[in-house]
Amino acid sequence: MKQLTIALVAHDHRKADLVEWAIFNAEFLSQHRLVCTGTTGSLVREAFEKKGIKADVTCMNSGPLGGDAEIAALVVRKQVDLAVFLIDDLNAQPHEADIQMLLRQCRIHNVPIACNRYSADLMITSSLWEKAGYTPTEPKYIKYKRK
Ligand code: PGA
Repeated sequence: MKQLTIALVAHDHRKADLVEWAIFNAEFLSQHRLVCTGTTGSLVREAFEKKGIKADVTCMNSGPLGGDAEIAALVVRKQVDLAVFLIDDLNAQPHEADIQMLLRQCRIHNVPIACNRYSADLMITSSLWEKAGYTPTEPKYIKYKRK
């Protein structure tokens, strides 16, 4: 399987879920490149280190300070293969605009984005990652696409 770049972002009340999910899937995740918002990435890195798991974890800024925006920029540049974004749906976030931007850019650029653990599990176990001849179908924004 080719090495994927996987974005990991979790809001504060979802960080425990994300870290638990990352540990559960450490064997898979340690074979890929992880790009994370600041605090999420530090927690994942720390949890991996404690278990002696080697992983390539890059930390962007903290989410409220632009980390989601940095990850959205990578999405726009086609540098993210998959995103796991555990959003706190029960509390307002100061960076709601950036959250919506990251979600929107993933939709526009056809990047799979899991907003709960079950979706994330399904996505990382999909056989489509390795299916010969499979190319994801891009959204047809005909009106806006100019060569
Ligand atoms: P954090 O950012 O990982 O730096 O907390 C996540 C977010 O709030 O988007």
